[in-house]
Amino acid sequence: MSRSHRTSQHQPNTAVELNPLFSRPGESTLFPRFTLPEGEALPSTAYQVVHDEAMLDGNSRLNLATFVGTWMEPEAATLYAETFDKNMIDKDEYPQTALIETRCWRMLADLWNAPDAEKSIGTSTIGSSEACMLGGLALKRRWQHARRAEGKSTDKPNLILSSAVQVCWEKFCNYWDVEARFVPVSAEHPMLDGHDLDQYVDENTIGVVAIMGVTYTGVYEPVQLISEALDDIQARRGLDIPIHVDGASGAMVAPFLQPETVWDFRLQRVASINTSGHKYGLVYPGLGWVVWRDAAALPEDLIFHVSYLGGDMPTFALNFSRPGAQVLLQYYLFLRLGFAGYRSVQATSRDVALYLSTEIGAMGAFTLWSDGSDIPVFAWQLNDGHTEHWNLHHLSERLRMNGWLVPAYPLPEGLSDVTVQRIVVRNGFTRDLASSFLADLKKEVDYLDSLTAPMPADKQAQGFHH
Ligand SMILES: *Cc1c(COP(=O)(O)O)cnc(C)c1O
Repeated sequence: MSRSHRTSQHQPNTAVELNPLFSRPGESTLFPRFTLPEGEALPSTAYQVVHDEAMLDGNSRLNLATFVGTWMEPEAATLYAETFDKNMIDKDEYPQTALIETRCWRMLADLWNAPDAEKSIGTSTIGSSEACMLGGLALKRRWQHARRAEGKSTDKPNLILSSAVQVCWEKFCNYWDVEARFVPVSAEHPMLDGHDLDQYVDENTIGVVAIMGVTYTGVYEPVQLISEALDDIQARRGLDIPIHVDGASGAMVAPFLQPETVWDFRLQRVASINTSGHKYGLVYPGLGWVVWRDAAALPEDLIFHVSYLGGDMPTFALNFSRPGAQVLLQYYLFLRLGFAGYRSVQATSRDVALYLSTEIGAMGAFTLWSDGSDIPVFAWQLNDGHTEHWNLHHLSERLRMNGWLVPAYPLPEGLSDVTVQRIVVRNGFTRDLASSFLADLKKEVDYLDSLTAPMPADKQAQGFHH
């Protein structure tokens, strides 16, 4: 009986053909792509094949689309290599890593002005998505407890969000049966700012999500105004609605660059805050954080207990096993940079963002939606009437030919007829690289402007995942 993959090896595109370099005696020169190879390969052969395929990915340093860290110091790489065997859930086997995790979220609680950081509670996660799920679950469970205590129904929870939320919030509402009430963005209110909240909230509202660093444009939502609008609603209607701040990017920027902006636990209504350790926390992919103001904000019945040095340690997470190394990398950076170091790294990124947005805004073809003065992220649109011959998707494709990834996409519900292009400036995108980018951008705009007939507009990729 012939196994299917024996035959499939001879069909085009289902196998990886090896260069003669790999035709060692006794070794296959073809690897099946979609079935498990029958036998073994030498480590060096397997390494070379995977290495070569990974090389075909884009160059991460030229990726101006992602928020996620792509550069760390050599010492961090050494530490990573020394610790990639640690499992975060094995608190008993790796008590020191567990202790360091606690130190990290305590530092964040303090950075975010928790009234009593000793009383706050937090955890690391795999990213902000998991952290947002946990924040949302705590809001839902608190609301359920309060409703049950009053003998009321818990059938129809809802959550208030801007239409510009990151997709993880749509997932949260979908997976946990919470009605998402989107407040659409508009020309007058390009972000959630507390207007008309009255019409959205009711006794079934579990909370309001405020975003520090909207993914589409990089602007901060004014958490203080949202909080004041909710104070007013409480005074008139008796509804006490908590806020979760999605600070995936901004919670690691605002404390350093805009310390006077009041968005964090200084606001009584802010129950919990998340951030991505792997965004402006400056760690490689695979790390998020969430912190609750105090134990009252995180219902006890959501917490599981794992054994830890013969005692017990509370945990709240969706995953069981996950890497511990990223947590150690975060701690490395906290020690390495301190407050002044983070401020200087984020200020450098902001300066590069302001330099680029000023130059792009002055080009004549574009109007800025934001300039990178909140988080170092900004977006622009093509001026109406500038050209009939090309659009921002074409520009994105032309830039890609130079290696740069700069996405173009429509704004969310409410402004979806506007297409923008966005740049995320991160640690490692230097002023020098930025001026090379600008030269390429100007060259490509000149090229597109010189066209005497329209670029084809069919089959353009419209989707971009935020
Ligand atoms: C990136 C982002 C997320 C998701 O974070 P991950 O760490 O990628 O899971 C959630 N919210 C906002 C505002 C973001 O920018």
